[in-house]
Amino acid sequence: MSDFYALLGVTREATEVEIKKSYRKLAMEYHPDRNSAPESEARFKEITEAYEVLRDPQKRAAYDRYGRAGVGAGGGGFGFHQVDLTEALNIFMRDFGGMGGFESIFGGGRSRQDARRGQDVRVTVKLSLAEVATGVKKTVKLKSVDRCSSCSGSGAKPGTKPATCSACGGSGEVRRAARSMFGQFVSVSPCPTCAGEGTVISQPCEVCRGEGRVRADKSVTVEIPAGVSTNNYLTLRGQGAAGSRNGPNGDLLVMLDIRQDDRFERHGDDLIFDLSLSFSQAALGGEFAVPTPYGEEKIKLPAGTQPETTLRLKQRGLPVLGQNAKGDLLIRVHIWTPERITDEQEQLFRELAKLEGEAPKRSPGFWSKLKEALGA
Ligand SMILES: [Zn+2]
Ligand SMILES: [Zn+2]
Repeated sequence: MSDFYALLGVTREATEVEIKKSYRKLAMEYHPDRNSAPESEARFKEITEAYEVLRDPQKRAAYDRYGRAGVGAGGGGFGFHQVDLTEALNIFMRDFGGMGGFESIFGGGRSRQDARRGQDVRVTVKLSLAEVATGVKKTVKLKSVDRCSSCSGSGAKPGTKPATCSACGGSGEVRRAARSMFGQFVSVSPCPTCAGEGTVISQPCEVCRGEGRVRADKSVTVEIPAGVSTNNYLTLRGQGAAGSRNGPNGDLLVMLDIRQDDRFERHGDDLIFDLSLSFSQAALGGEFAVPTPYGEEKIKLPAGTQPETTLRLKQRGLPVLGQNAKGDLLIRVHIWTPERITDEQEQLFRELAKLEGEAPKRSPGFWSKLKEALGA
């Protein structure tokens, strides 16, 4: 699979305007209504998918950092998905549909559906790092709109039916034939009498006043995959607001808010834990308890463990989104020096000082070794 930037023929530094411009040009070339070559449809989907990610600063940042895994594209089975042709066409229409007479090129059929589509609903789910580590099911409560049960969403008073619009004969479109120097052409626009719906309601439903939908609280269970970050979000198709008069539902967009866990520093899928040891612990070595997102674990440190030693616990970091892999947990050792000591401790330290001898002069390689250990 090619890089999204390469697909759109732009550089990684391209501005939003450049991305939009380049996508529009390519979309005009490969739009299935204009290009009947068999591979154009797949190409149109690909460039639209790339465009949909790169036009959105949040998704673009996630893509820049984690590639397709970061935006869920090309992965599968965890709530994200690749765009299908209908979506690709809708995305194109959404951003370019109103420009330069495309409406008449592509026909009015889709816009008629879109007018009744319910709104997308956005909800934020808070997650702990432990939940990110395992993945979690969350139930979210939403104030939304649902199909009116009294009229089954039609908007017509129970016992009555919406009537076919007499102005357009139910097609929702009005066609006008006009002549030009090139011959006759037909222009198509939504029917003004029925707003493109093809039907008119003479007796509206009293519960929803003809809207076909009513306010409702609902709860939706969201399955959040392991390894997500704040840049990710989930799209639940059709779980947003109900459309008017049985129009399609909007989507539910689940934004993720991951609470800071003070024990760890997160670097993508890797975690860092700072372990403080007293001088005697470092000198003697031994077993020490360290937290991991999956519970406490014991690590062994040799006698004479040096400050800023870094240990890598493989596969104890966070899961890699959409893959059967995990990052690592890095344990960074720090030596703690007590700020205050008791008389007894002082006496012991003085005894020790007599016995321990002199610290070695630092060898020239000391700082570079230290940097290496820190991964700098
Ligand atoms: Zn109703
Ligand atoms: Zn009409």
